[in-house]
Amino acid sequence: MASIMMFVFKKGSRNAFNNERETDEFVKNYERIFGVRFPSADTVDEVMRKMNEKYLEKLKTSLIKILIKKKVFHKNRILGKYFLTVTDGSHAMTVNEGHCEHCLTRKSDSGKMTYFHNVVEAKLVTEKGFSISPAAERAENPGVPYDKQDCELKAFVRIAEKTDGSS
Ligand SMILES: [Zn+2]
Repeated sequence: MASIMMFVFKKGSRNAFNNERETDEFVKNYERIFGVRFPSADTVDEVMRKMNEKYLEKLKTSLIKILIKKKVFHKNRILGKYFLTVTDGSHAMTVNEGHCEHCLTRKSDSGKMTYFHNVVEAKLVTEKGFSISPAAERAENPGVPYDKQDCELKAFVRIAEKTDGSS
């Protein structure tokens, strides 16, 4: 809940979110509206780091299934029958050398090596531009020189397997 609210409130950092703790009115309103204590963003970060990401993915899938079951997106179906989904890769973050064993690498013409992570995400989109992501996969280090298209295609296969309707 607090993680989501950090984005809803457009706080750029945990520190900015924590600064709201110093505003009694904000804390009171948060607790009144959501019925929970206003947390420390550092505690939220600690919990999120300990949580297995596969459970977050399952939670996200479950929530989207509820929205579909309640027909929230039904009026946006194509030909009144099909949901429009798109899948694309995007840059997630640039990291320092040695970050992890899954880092992707790219060598520039000048020979400088860059380490980074990309994700491939499936999104259900509406004609008004709303989008929601039922599944995402990391583009992984293939152990050979990085080929964006190949990494994204392999990640797409994993997404398709995850979203085949059985999960
Ligand atoms: Zn890494």
